[in-house]
Amino acid sequence: MAIRFCYSPAKQQLLTRYTYQQFYTFVLSGILLLLASFSSFAAKPKPFRTKNVIIVVIDGPRYSETWGNVPGYIPAMSARMRPKGVFFSNFLNDAYTYTNAGHTAITTGINQPIDNNGNELPANPSIFQHWLKSTGKPATAAWIITSKDKLNILGNTLHPDWQNKYLPSQNCGVNGPGSGYRADSLTLAVAKQILTRDKPNLVLINFMEPDGYAHAGNWDYYLKGISRDDRYVKQLWDFLRKNKNYKNNTTLLVTNDHGRHLDGIDGGWIEHGDNCAGCQHISLLALGPDFKKGRMVATQYTLVDIAPTIAWLLGFNFEQAQGHVIPDLFPKKRLKELNL
Ligand SMILES: [Zn+2]
Ligand SMILES: [Zn+2]
Repeated sequence: MAIRFCYSPAKQQLLTRYTYQQFYTFVLSGILLLLASFSSFAAKPKPFRTKNVIIVVIDGPRYSETWGNVPGYIPAMSARMRPKGVFFSNFLNDAYTYTNAGHTAITTGINQPIDNNGNELPANPSIFQHWLKSTGKPATAAWIITSKDKLNILGNTLHPDWQNKYLPSQNCGVNGPGSGYRADSLTLAVAKQILTRDKPNLVLINFMEPDGYAHAGNWDYYLKGISRDDRYVKQLWDFLRKNKNYKNNTTLLVTNDHGRHLDGIDGGWIEHGDNCAGCQHISLLALGPDFKKGRMVATQYTLVDIAPTIAWLLGFNFEQAQGHVIPDLFPKKRLKELNL
């Protein structure tokens, strides 16, 4: 219909009403859109504060000489550090209780009966490779620093899609594979140097003295090794808390690869490697800006839960793991936000 420039009150009223209706519809849909964007904003999880993850593996102490008898030989971890984080009293290596298998379970999230002399690479890629691939960061952003030279196997994999790709940096044993074990004090010193120089975001440190001295049949040195590693973990934690690159954004996980035989089983504390409770019962102490504080958790978790938990914290996909993210680490609100 042609618009005529003549005055018609009825028409004017109709047009005005129509315009108001349009206007209200416009405003209403605007408000709805705004509300929708707010609600989607509210549902979107906040990123984790964790930007760095350091895993410390104390090699082969038995629960009865560590967390089963506190403060005992671990006063720093049990009295000073435990109240700041979450301690898991029922944490297990429920699969292959020797060094390379325990460490492989930690780094790949998969239990594998791997050769224990350093002659076999893990069948699956590690969190280091996955993380380096997903971030595109250089090799110096991920480090494996170990007292045992044979743990250089953790840096690579036999998996055809991943072999020789996205490899982390390594500093293992006296001087790489075949060079022998070195003292944990040296490993701590090297770790501090590397953390200062390269500022890596993902690091695994292995301390070997409890295992080394136990195999040598030296009970006193076995206990001294546990005490020394307790102090070294505390020194590392103090270093991280004071370092401007690491404070308030770093998660520290302290665990073991395996325990040792219960007394009366196959030579007792000197050896390990079967499925007795002494070999399987290990521990996890977890401290970080995203975790609860001062909690003791009795729920059972295992070594293969560590890798998916780290992947979730650092925000990369990691579907290969046999284990799962450990919900007991996180406040309820965080779990709700992320639908865990
Ligand atoms: Zn051993
Ligand atoms: Zn055993």
